[in-house]
Amino acid sequence: MIYLDNAATTPLDPRAEAVMVPFAREAFGNPSSLHAAGRAARAALDAARDTVADWLGCAISEVIFTSGGTESDNLALKGAARALRSRGTHIITTAFEHHAVLESCAALAREGFQITYLSPDHDGLISSDQVAAALTAETILVSVMMANNEIGTIQPIAEIGRLCRARRVVFHTDAVQAAGELPPRARDLSVDLLTISAHKLYGPKGVGALYARSGTRLQPLLDGGGQEHERRAGTENVAGIVGFAEVVRHLPDTNEIIRLRTLRDRLLDGLLAIPDSRLHGSHARRLANNANVAFAGVAGETLVLALDLEGIAAGTGAACAAGAVEPSHVIQALGCDRIRAREAVRFSLGRGTTTEDIDHTIATVRRLVAHLRRHGGT
Ligand code: PLP
Repeated sequence: MIYLDNAATTPLDPRAEAVMVPFAREAFGNPSSLHAAGRAARAALDAARDTVADWLGCAISEVIFTSGGTESDNLALKGAARALRSRGTHIITTAFEHHAVLESCAALAREGFQITYLSPDHDGLISSDQVAAALTAETILVSVMMANNEIGTIQPIAEIGRLCRARRVVFHTDAVQAAGELPPRARDLSVDLLTISAHKLYGPKGVGALYARSGTRLQPLLDGGGQEHERRAGTENVAGIVGFAEVVRHLPDTNEIIRLRTLRDRLLDGLLAIPDSRLHGSHARRLANNANVAFAGVAGETLVLALDLEGIAAGTGAACAAGAVEPSHVIQALGCDRIRAREAVRFSLGRGTTTEDIDHTIATVRRLVAHLRRHGGT
């Protein structure tokens, strides 16, 4: 298989697997237990927290381990909004956030919060001026993702962070997609809350973190024990957290990012040479491994399924709910209609991607697009 869906998830790094296995077997203690097995688990958890805090450029007390990006987003949005309700009820976010943010906002709207959804421009970019114009005396929280999961466009987070800090508004960024390429240094970015997920970084699924700047008020989502400084109840996923910390030690370096960008541009050159094709989102301000393209008249999910039969894994932004494929809300936020939004296909490169993979993918897509167009595109 040629795997070009690394934005959906990445394979587990064998180095992470190696450090995780003992914590699923003999070192199975509960970090809250007083005996030796518990203390060993606690020591591993503390070491992992040190590593993650060092990476995020923050204090260890500012790292909350969670079950992944979805939980971190929910805790950030709902936790902060509910804790700050007496100060105001207005929240600003964008129309092309991940569903974990959008659905958290929808839940908050049902609780009486007012949500402003900023629209990205045609290139998939949000500006700090847009945020400034939307701020009111009632605004308590702003959430803008660092890089978009479908089109990979990178937002001016440090600028928006400075603006929010000056206006004393809590600022959250979902850095799930960006963290493998852009340093998610919380202080440099002036963010108060920042979401990370391990499985996009060659780590295990079901584990992530929320950075919460010291002093940021958060109402916990779960009632239970006092773990994670009383902000996230439940026995910690020690094996997962240890695996997460291990992949943080092996994040892609500059050479790898240049290699990915070069391969991605080779892919784009090949795909955009196909007639009636287009790129979604800015080329200059996007993650190195992301190519989101469309071929007019060809439904994205049809092409993805045809590619799968050829042994190539790519993705669409479409979510399949209740048997009906919903066109991507991200592509629609760029101003494309539903038909055009359904044409989007995302290729996301990773550590295992080679030049041969790219050349084979270009030739296969070219052949399949011509075939599907001859047969009506769907
Ligand atoms: N936020 C973004 C931008 C994502 O891409 C994802 C995963 O697709 C998530 C949040 C959710 O993360 P998780 O799968 O760890 O719940």
